[in-house]
Amino acid sequence: MYRGTFAVVDKDAIAANVTSIKSLLAERVRMLVTVKANGYGHGAIEAARAAIRGGATDLGVASVEEGKRLREAGIAQPILVLGAVTPAGAAAAAEAGLAVGVSTQWDDLPEGVFNPPLQVHVKVDTGMGRLGLRDTADVVRLIRSLKERTDVRVTGLFTHLACADAKDTAHSGEQIRRFTEMLAVLRREGLNPPLIHVANSAATLRMQDWHYGMVRVGIAAYGYPPSDAFDIPVSLSPALNLYSFITRIDTLAPGETVGYGATFTACRPTRVATLPVGYADGYFRILSNRAHVVVGGREAPVIGNVCMDQMMIDVTHLPEAETGDCVTLYGHHAPAEWKTRRLETMTEDEQFRWLAASYRESAQSSPTLSLDVLARLADTISYELMCALAVRVPRIYVDSDSSF
Ligand SMILES: *Cc1c(COP(=O)(O)O)cnc(C)c1O
Repeated sequence: MYRGTFAVVDKDAIAANVTSIKSLLAERVRMLVTVKANGYGHGAIEAARAAIRGGATDLGVASVEEGKRLREAGIAQPILVLGAVTPAGAAAAAEAGLAVGVSTQWDDLPEGVFNPPLQVHVKVDTGMGRLGLRDTADVVRLIRSLKERTDVRVTGLFTHLACADAKDTAHSGEQIRRFTEMLAVLRREGLNPPLIHVANSAATLRMQDWHYGMVRVGIAAYGYPPSDAFDIPVSLSPALNLYSFITRIDTLAPGETVGYGATFTACRPTRVATLPVGYADGYFRILSNRAHVVVGGREAPVIGNVCMDQMMIDVTHLPEAETGDCVTLYGHHAPAEWKTRRLETMTEDEQFRWLAASYRESAQSSPTLSLDVLARLADTISYELMCALAVRVPRIYVDSDSSF
């Protein structure tokens, strides 16, 4: 590592979160963990392995490509593609042993295109307005036509809640009412698939009645609450941490400015520290002159516009801060021993191992700068900040069980 910006992904935290959430489920209920979008930025394969270690029975992805990547890494658990698939995508899914959600009639598809037979979860739209069939008659027709095929197995039926994280549960209640009505019709017709699922993280954490045969958990597995509208019944620890080492500190005179557009003007002698991390790494530009980072356990404001690859912070009130100090952008506060000079004589492999060991020893129990705080300042949700963590940021994986 030469640039000095890195993420620590705590696989132990993901495994522990999954185990805690699973403790809320009845014994027969399966737990799918969504690892779409590169595992919400954490790394899809590593997140999947951690989730499996914690007790996940199934994995969810957005695309056939994402599912295939997990298979190629040797992951054998059931994988469900949640996004829309084309017939060609479904054929590739069958070949890779991925189940797919199906939202449209497949009348024109010749028989025998799926080999081995494709596992289908029929998707129902009960109020999300995104994917799925809305009318019960259409669902009946789709299941009937799929059941006639020898190259398809209808194994599941599911819907997705639009407002499970909202304070008011009326919208979810209405979705569940429609879903229940539809299930009753399907049961009468003898068409109800073996596996029914509805709940995302929010519904899993607050509504035991909505667990059905499987829950689909994403954000909570990564250690963040889906929203602050309700109490979380288990303890969750954030798994994603972003750090950067100060590359330069200099003092500006009153009246001098910082960054593109000169949006920050020093009104006193100001010690400015520069970090080699920017919006291209996933630290949003809207956080300019708004957010703070943590240096040596203390807050330091972001000043000037966040650049593509760099950003500046005010450390005037932190006289002990120096070039080479580690700054926490989010996650657990960096241990004091993290300084560039400690890493200088190490190979990259040694650096990563030392940082991972040191994280486990001290950072894991230190306070956190929550992504929820940054998300509020950026007018978004923790999900978007996580997913935005760029591929170019090296991820250091912390894992007490290296067999995973
Ligand atoms: C991503 C996703 C989930 C998980 O949602 P979280 O809010 O992260 O728990 C569940 N179901 C579907 C269909 C999804 O796309």
